[in-house]
Amino acid sequence: MTLNEFDIIATYFQRSSQHPSVVKSVGDDCAIVSPVMDQLLVMSMDTVVAGRHFPEAATPAQIASRAFCTAISDLAAMGAKPQWFTMALVLPNVDAQWLHEFSESLFAMANQYECDLIGGDTTQGPLAVTIQVHGTVPKNKVLTRDAAQVGDSVFVSGPIGDGAAALLLLLNSLELEEDDQAYLLNRFYQPRAQIETGIAILPYAHAAIDISDGLVADLQHIANASQVDIDVDVERVPLSMAYQHVFAQYENKMQPALTGGDDYQLAFTVPENQIAHIQALIKKNKIAATKIGQVVQKRLEKPYVHCYHNQQSFLLTGKQGYQHFAS
Ligand code: ADP
Ligand code: MG
Repeated sequence: MTLNEFDIIATYFQRSSQHPSVVKSVGDDCAIVSPVMDQLLVMSMDTVVAGRHFPEAATPAQIASRAFCTAISDLAAMGAKPQWFTMALVLPNVDAQWLHEFSESLFAMANQYECDLIGGDTTQGPLAVTIQVHGTVPKNKVLTRDAAQVGDSVFVSGPIGDGAAALLLLLNSLELEEDDQAYLLNRFYQPRAQIETGIAILPYAHAAIDISDGLVADLQHIANASQVDIDVDVERVPLSMAYQHVFAQYENKMQPALTGGDDYQLAFTVPENQIAHIQALIKKNKIAATKIGQVVQKRLEKPYVHCYHNQQSFLLTGKQGYQHFAS
């Protein structure tokens, strides 16, 4: 049996909605949702392309989970609660088994984050997945990049550099313990979007960003938007055991953690008078967070992220993280 576009949608992507807010889901010309009272709507879209964001050999389940987790990570960075998502799927051909595995993985992830698929588009072409996520935040508080203030402490929500280590593992055959390999592949294909952390720190943090391009590059986005410098104490940047094993032989062991992308941890800034709340959240195991630096007054004409390591300071200028179209 060959499946046409409408069979694909009906068979794999039309599921009954969990949310009372969904008036119409997949199946009509548009999805309809009822607005959540006293909340702001927060939206973001991400595309993953075969051979660029995941290896051609990635399984359908891996592609789905990676596409979904990386998209929803942007909601975490705003402190938003996921609500609904739409998905544009470009497929080279129709493969029932592929679609089955892809959709099962997608819905498993979506259910985990209580986010409903409410519409999309299905076309033929080179394999790519675009996901637009919609979330909500209370009207009086949202985490943005432009809200960091001098005196804030800078935190990250977990180990940095696992994305870089995983990429190296995927592109090369590394001699690595099985546990480390499994850990890194999991971090690459199912990065845990820091939704709970974003929501937990919302009342206390000033600025936040999710680390997708690389720690320094993403902190630079906060620095630029907030017109401040950020000082990073490189020794404090938390690393996983797997990361340390992968880069053990490297002369500059911290470089991949500072510049590699795909970590999907949060970096956020907290004013002095709210630090106790963050520490209480850490103590109660509500969040994991490590202080890695400080927001300071801009020293030069432009804002910079200054790294401090072995009593030396340096600026990682030029290509600090991953950029499309940068040669
Ligand atoms: P139209 O031609 O009116 O734009 P489509 O034929 O593209 O509508 O889609 C029919 C319905 O199926 C719409 O509700 C659309 O949102 C949904 N849809 C299409 N592709 C997907 C997909 N990959 N995932 C979820 N819903 C989809
Ligand atoms: Mg239509």
